[in-house]
Amino acid sequence: MFELVFFSHTPQVPFTDLLDAAKCVVKALFIREKYISLSMQSFCRTTARYLQEELGGQPLDLNTFEEMPESSVSADATVHPPVSETHPYEVLDPASMPPGLGYTCKMVDGVVHVYTQNSSELDLPYPDLQEYIADMNMMMALIINGPVKSFCYRRLQYLSSKFQMHILLNEMKELAAQKKVPHRDFYNIRKVDTHIHASSCMNQKHLLRFIKRAMKKYPGEIVHVEQSRGQTLLEVFESMNLTAFDLSVDTLDMHADRNTFHRFDKFNSKYNPIGESILREIFIKTDNHVEGKYFGHIIKEVMADLEESKYQNVELRLSIYGRSRDEWDKLAQWAIKHKVYSDNVRWLVQVPRLFDVYHTKKQLSNFQEMLENIFMPLFEVTVNPSSHPQLHLFLEHVVGFDSVDDESKPEHHIFNLDSPKPVNWTEEDNPPYSYYLYYVYANMTVLNHLRRQRNLNSFVLRPHCGEAGPIHHLVSGFMLSENISHGLLLRKAPVLQYLYYLAQIGIAMSPLSNNSLFLSYHRNPLPEYLSRGLMVSLSTDDPLQFHFTKEPLMEEYSIAAQVWKLSSCDMCELARNSVLMSGFSHQVKSYWLGPHYLKEGQEGNDIRRTNVPDIRVAYRFETLCEELNLITQAVRSEELETAEEQGSLCMGARR
Ligand SMILES: [Zn+2]
Repeated sequence: MFELVFFSHTPQVPFTDLLDAAKCVVKALFIREKYISLSMQSFCRTTARYLQEELGGQPLDLNTFEEMPESSVSADATVHPPVSETHPYEVLDPASMPPGLGYTCKMVDGVVHVYTQNSSELDLPYPDLQEYIADMNMMMALIINGPVKSFCYRRLQYLSSKFQMHILLNEMKELAAQKKVPHRDFYNIRKVDTHIHASSCMNQKHLLRFIKRAMKKYPGEIVHVEQSRGQTLLEVFESMNLTAFDLSVDTLDMHADRNTFHRFDKFNSKYNPIGESILREIFIKTDNHVEGKYFGHIIKEVMADLEESKYQNVELRLSIYGRSRDEWDKLAQWAIKHKVYSDNVRWLVQVPRLFDVYHTKKQLSNFQEMLENIFMPLFEVTVNPSSHPQLHLFLEHVVGFDSVDDESKPEHHIFNLDSPKPVNWTEEDNPPYSYYLYYVYANMTVLNHLRRQRNLNSFVLRPHCGEAGPIHHLVSGFMLSENISHGLLLRKAPVLQYLYYLAQIGIAMSPLSNNSLFLSYHRNPLPEYLSRGLMVSLSTDDPLQFHFTKEPLMEEYSIAAQVWKLSSCDMCELARNSVLMSGFSHQVKSYWLGPHYLKEGQEGNDIRRTNVPDIRVAYRFETLCEELNLITQAVRSEELETAEEQGSLCMGARR
């Protein structure tokens, strides 16, 4: 049906190099598989199959890593999931929630432990710290090993060239396949903005109009308290010597520009309208004197636009800082009170890595307090949903955790066995990235096991990772997270890049954001990653700072398509990737991508919904299988050889 790109000779590598490299790569994949399945996140099926069938790896535990139920969606169902009649936040009846179990929770060495009424501990697994550090050190040695680096580099070069060949031979056929599909085109396939922050999900013009409208509608509303005196919206603007008429996008001054390049500090201050933090507090915070009313309203306007566009969806990040125990309740209350919900939106909760700041301000005395503030409420609500009924409802629409902050900030510590335990982390310095990620991961893992027992939804880890800073952040990301945002630094780390490819780890990339902060557009590795077959998607990060139009995600696709000359097939592939790596439910994905979307290769593709030709999907699948085959066969052949050698030795002894 299509021209298979097949080379009978794989590029020359000395056999011993191939063998050593293959062993290392396989070991790394097993490590990821272990941590991902332990935490109930999803691991690439094709890769898992090769590890299991060819190398006799442990089959993924079907109890924890549930086989997806056969979808009830029929092959000819519409692409639109049914809409529920009732608003999901309206069923706030504690009596209808799962009953309380009477368990108690306690954090020990940075990880929550759960005890039954007769104080025996529940068996909720989480990774052993010693083992984790050993695995991490193994991974660190592996990514700087010379021969392994050369091997992976060559494989990546080969993948690029092979894709070029595929395009030369099949581009016209791909295009023809797309033309043959009635009705479907790039505009009406599902796209998910896989990385976008709620506080900057509207564009500047939208925020400006909203502020002007608020000034007209609620001039007398008390919005802020300064020195125990309430200030109305009008007074706030008067104190800044501004009227509604004066305001323009220029005075708002929230766009990233050439002055923010490599200046994350300057970029952060762009979150303040007109440079005033008080306006940020009033308009784009969930917790303020008006209980986040304005922020709720503007998010709902963004949601209405998304619903109108039908095919665009977003995964908005909301913040939990870990400064106090009531943050979760306040956040949930905000969402439910203002009914901030849309079928087009799922939430991720981002935890800024700001322990050092809160510690200096004396809000936290040690790191464990921060972890307790983040996780204890989640355990309480899981053990007894009616203790925090609003949070219980809200969590059903949260898909996971994100970890955010400037990765290029210097780190003064290396995470190892000598690192202080969270309760003893009382110094001024911030814990390193890997320390944050490990403790979020460990608690999330325990929480997921507890929630699974109760038939509640579980969470995944999707941190910002590899945007800047040291490369080892990407090692933590590889071991612990389902997918990552940015991944720019993979371009400098061939071993990790090859591993991210083999494990098909999702990477949400935002080239426009990078262009303003860390890497100019023409140097962005996205087209290279895409051609090699890494699981990349396009996302906007912060439309308020980077985009100009009402449809920021389309703007992102449009610029990428033009600068990098992406074909319609490339764009549809990116969009399909974005749905696959998103946290929308299995049911919803079955409508968007087709009921068999979890099957491997072209069987899992439904061009009538995705507009991605089977040729492309088959090419990706066969290429991945070829790579997995190469490394697993190399490892196997050695195993056989040693077995034979041992056999002949025995023979010799007998003689
Ligand atoms: Zn971001």
